[in-house]
Amino acid sequence: MARYIFITGGVVSSLGKGLASAALGALLQARGYSVRLRKLDPYLNVDPGTMSPFEHGEVFVTDDGAETDLDLGHYERFTGVSARKTDSISAGRIYSNVLDNERRGAYLGKTIQVIPHVTNEIKSFLEIGSDEVDFMLCEIGGTVGDIEGLPFFEAIRQFTHERPRGECILMHLTLLPYLAASGELKTKPTQHSVKELQSIGLAPDVLVCRSEQPIPEKERAKIALFCNVRPDAVIPAYDLKSIYEAPLAYHRAGLDRAVLDAFQISPAPRPDLTRWEDVMDRLNNAEGKVQIAVVGKYTQLEDAYKSIAEALTHGGMANRTRVRAEWIDSERLEREGTHLLDGFNGIIVPGGFGERGTEGMIAAARYAREKKVPYLGICLGMQMAVIEAARNLAGLPDAGSEEFDHEAGKQRFTPIVYHLKEWVQGNYMVNRSIDDDKGGTMRLGAYTAVLAPDSRISQIYDGATEIEDRHRHRYEVDASYRAQLEAAGLKFSGMSPDGKLPEVVEHADHPWFIGVQAHPELKSKPFEPAPLFADFIRAAKEIERLV
Ligand code: GLN
Repeated sequence: MARYIFITGGVVSSLGKGLASAALGALLQARGYSVRLRKLDPYLNVDPGTMSPFEHGEVFVTDDGAETDLDLGHYERFTGVSARKTDSISAGRIYSNVLDNERRGAYLGKTIQVIPHVTNEIKSFLEIGSDEVDFMLCEIGGTVGDIEGLPFFEAIRQFTHERPRGECILMHLTLLPYLAASGELKTKPTQHSVKELQSIGLAPDVLVCRSEQPIPEKERAKIALFCNVRPDAVIPAYDLKSIYEAPLAYHRAGLDRAVLDAFQISPAPRPDLTRWEDVMDRLNNAEGKVQIAVVGKYTQLEDAYKSIAEALTHGGMANRTRVRAEWIDSERLEREGTHLLDGFNGIIVPGGFGERGTEGMIAAARYAREKKVPYLGICLGMQMAVIEAARNLAGLPDAGSEEFDHEAGKQRFTPIVYHLKEWVQGNYMVNRSIDDDKGGTMRLGAYTAVLAPDSRISQIYDGATEIEDRHRHRYEVDASYRAQLEAAGLKFSGMSPDGKLPEVVEHADHPWFIGVQAHPELKSKPFEPAPLFADFIRAAKEIERLV
């Protein structure tokens, strides 16, 4: 049976709970343990799939097709453990299950209440897969004291209480604000948030204290005394230049030691941190720099393209090169022209939804093709590259996507990209209609692409004939235009196993121009960069040499 580590936050949000959880997962792995990380989100959306990227950042997709919180991306990037549908749950999903059960009569006429029905539902979710790993790390979204969070806190109180002593611990993240006027770090907010936890029957075993200033020993002792934790379980967490420093920094601060102590695991296995030392070495000893333009529509919020940003960093690590990504609003390209792309070593057009900004993306694809700048089109970015080729090379000036016509409510384009209503998933046939619910109805999760043997994409994957990446889209490039587009120079170098759905396109007479329907960025890790990103940065670096 797994031991459980619950991770909560207090004082303010955005303290980096997800990162601390992920780093702790990596450190436990370094000591030879198996881990799984889980996110419990108190909001009422059933999943983040229908939330705007402006609102909540990127939607992270798992192999098994769940649309989840971007923290699951951190978990995967730090531990390499593929997240599953059952690793992300929201209050919305919990309530929806409870209400479905009630409608089915599963509660035999009982009055449905938060305790026990909602808390039981949360607890049974916590149990899933608990016999598979040594440690289960469960992060609770939001901060202690939030109304929505209460059922989750109550559920972990009960869960801890019902398990044998010493199998569950609680790690709490707080902030020590620094008052410049008096030159002091204040511990009171931390004390208050621990009190808040205590009032609902929870007591932290480990406190992680975020601070911009060094925490003096005296303050550490004071926190330990007032918050009822051991002094060496008060872990300082300072700001880091790169998130990938977190495992080594937390190790130096004694986090994994404190956690194992709290479980009374002694002697603790020695950690092997070579993976993270190598990652830091690659980050710190990079030569040269490439500048990459990411032309998208959700450019105001950095988290909207979180995995792309991270995959670019990983691609840089693979080449020991620093990558500077600049986010360019595609509508700006429409207004001001593609000269905004001058000087970049590579261009990425990432995923997105809706027509707004797509003409700018098409212009970016054209610019990259004509100026021979490395281009990586991801999902919508592949679709726009195909439309560009159709319009400007294959004599289809009205080429467009059905997505835009659906939005506008009238047909204006030749639908080179069409709404997919039926496809094969494993041994099943999936059927969809345009009127379906918006949540969870896309082509989601891992699908295989069969690669053409002589293609660049197959070369990048070391001659592989099949690759698997995660998808999240409703529309699809129409394969019936294949011959026409290939004659114009755009090769369809990857197809779904049944040969119906284009998965990869590339311009063969270009130094590096690839569009993929899937999202390779989602599987990229610092210690295992996505091959497409690694090779894209390699090509971008070469362009720099030519300039
Ligand atoms: N909007 C496009 C579709 O649904 C692309 C989606 C994406 O880029 N993730 O097919």
